[in-house]
Order: sequence, then structure tokens, then C-alpha cells
Amino acid sequence: MSLEAKSVFTLADLQNWAEVTSGSLRRPRLAVIGDPVAHSRSPQMHNPALIAAGIDCEYVRLHLRSEELEAGIEAMKAAHFIGFNVTIPHKAAMCEIVDELSETAQRVGAVNTVAIREGKLFGHNTDAPGLHRAIHEAFGVDLHDLRVLVVGAGGGAGRAAAVECAMSSCRRLVLANRTVEKATLLAEGLLPLLSDQDDGQTRIRAIRWDADSLSQELGEIDLIINATSIGMKADDPDVLPPGSLRADHLVYDMVYAPPQTRLMSAAEECGARAANGLGMLLWQGALAFEYWFSWEAPVEAMREGLERE
Ligand code: NAP
Repeated sequence: MSLEAKSVFTLADLQNWAEVTSGSLRRPRLAVIGDPVAHSRSPQMHNPALIAAGIDCEYVRLHLRSEELEAGIEAMKAAHFIGFNVTIPHKAAMCEIVDELSETAQRVGAVNTVAIREGKLFGHNTDAPGLHRAIHEAFGVDLHDLRVLVVGAGGGAGRAAAVECAMSSCRRLVLANRTVEKATLLAEGLLPLLSDQDDGQTRIRAIRWDADSLSQELGEIDLIINATSIGMKADDPDVLPPGSLRADHLVYDMVYAPPQTRLMSAAEECGARAANGLGMLLWQGALAFEYWFSWEAPVEAMREGLERE
């Protein structure tokens, strides 16, 4: 029996794991934890990967509230879990819980992947490098060579994008946010990564998310990353001022539901290339798989699983 029929498990289930999962064909030892978690597409991606790789393991959704995190982690250790993914609202809290934190996770201030080895928790952030791989796959370019605008640099996804661009030493980085103070603070933290020692010039700046500020910057930008939650609903505002895109812009929209966002359509109408956030979801999952198993992830099985969904 596959456990996917029961779409979300609880702490009480986890504390009685052997009995609750006794009818399963594959041992459930990987999970995504969150509150809420029912929306997560990760099982659709990881279970085909585990089957393709011939690994005796099933990946499930676990609903854990903040006050249940500690007990949940102890129960996962007791049930010999290999690791887990972390989604809202636990990504920041997990930085304080893990035994070891990767440099990227520490800079982003968020853990989305945990590997459990000999009872110790190793925390990683694969959203940031996952975005990097997705952009490379979609456009055949590397962040290092690009001038990048991150719109929505106040949220967790925007922070991951900004950190990845800075760690890749991109040519120029502009961080735009409705609440500009958050983008300013982030830019200050990343300044050492984007300052030229020879001439003291900095390659990073923060701007307010408004039509004038965005229009002024777009002339010196190659890649636009939408890291706001704008685009998920039909009555959302425009991410960029109408008419501000050019044919040589690349547009990466982290939103993937709907698969064709208004921002992507606006880009394509003026001849620019655009991609949705499904690639980022895929690659963050593939990198998580590699942390758990130290094997190359079966990416095509994961992609098919996501596309089938
Ligand atoms: P979040 O923490 O809630 O941040 C939302 C960001 O959007 C903030 O910068 C916020 O600005 C801005 N924003 C929201 N509504 C806005 C509006 N009406 N006008 C202007 N700015 C607005 O969310 P998140 O977790 O970073 O996620 C952001 C998006 O990325 C979501 O659509 C999410 O689904 C997507 N995402 C995709 C992937 C993937 O794998 N493809 C991974 C993670 C996230 P303020 O700071 O001013 O509030």
C-alpha cells in the first residue's frame, strides 16, 4: 500500500509510526514538514525519484505546528528518518534547531532541507542553488554574467534569490521591495560580496517597488526575477510597469500556479524569454535528494512527477 492516500500525517501519527505505517510497501523515512502542508507538491516529485532509484523509502507530508517541532524531530530520529524538507512557517526556526548549518542557509536565514546522520541534523538551503540551476536550464546563462533585478526582496524567496546572485558574484544586483527597508537591510548584508576591492565601487542597491524606480533600473538589467507572491491571483497588480520590458530581457517568475503568469505573457508579447517557477521547485528537490543520498538525483523522474501533477 502507498501512504499517499492519507495525504497528511500528524505528530500523533509520527509518535506511533511503526503501527500507523505498517501496511506500507516502502518504509516512510522522508517528509516535508509545515503548517499548513497539504498543498505541498514535494511527494509527487520525490516518490517517483525514490522508485526510479530503487530506494526502499516513501516520502510523506507531516503537519507539525511550531510548538510540535521539537517532539516531531525526536520522533523522526526514533523512526530512522533519512531527512526532511521544511516549508512555511518553519524555515527560519530550523536554523536554530539544526546541529550544522550550511553557509547558504546561514546567509539566507532559512533551512528547507535537513539530512539526519547518526542522530545529528544538517541544515541546508536548496531554494537558492535550485533557482540558479533553473535559470541556467531555462535560459542557458549563468547568474555570474548577469545584471539582475529581484522584485520582492523582502520575503524568504527573494532573500534566497538575492543571496544566490551575490554568492555567484553577479555583475549587478538591484533589490526591489514594497517595504524598501527590508531590501535595504538585505543589500547592506550582501555588500561585502558585491564590492569591487580595486575601485571601491559597489554592484548592489536597494530600491522601492514603484513604477519610477523600476523603470529607471530596467535599462541596465538582463534578468528579472519575480519573488513576490504577485501573479497567483487574477486580480493581482502588475509586477512591473506596463511597457517597461524589452526583447532582450530574461524573466524568471517564481510563481508556478498558474503555469503561465501575466508577467510571463507580458515578457513574451515583447519578444523576451520567460519561465515559471516549476524549474526552481524541481531543482531544489533534486539538490535535497543529493544531500540525503549522496547520489545524482533522477531529475527526469522528478520532472515527470511534477508535470503529471
Ligand atoms: P513572502 O515571504 O510572503 O514574501 C512575499 C514578497 O512579496 C514580499 O517581498 C512582499 O513585499 C511582496 N509582496 C506581496 N504582495 C505584494 C503586493 N501586493 N505588492 C508588492 N509586493 C508584494 O513569500 P515567499 O515565501 O518569499 O514567496 C514569494 C513567492 O515565491 C510566492 O509566490 C511563492 O509561491 C514563490 N516561491 C516559489 C518557489 C519555487 O520553488 N518556485 C519557492 C519559494 C517561493 P513586502 O516585504 O513589502 O511585504
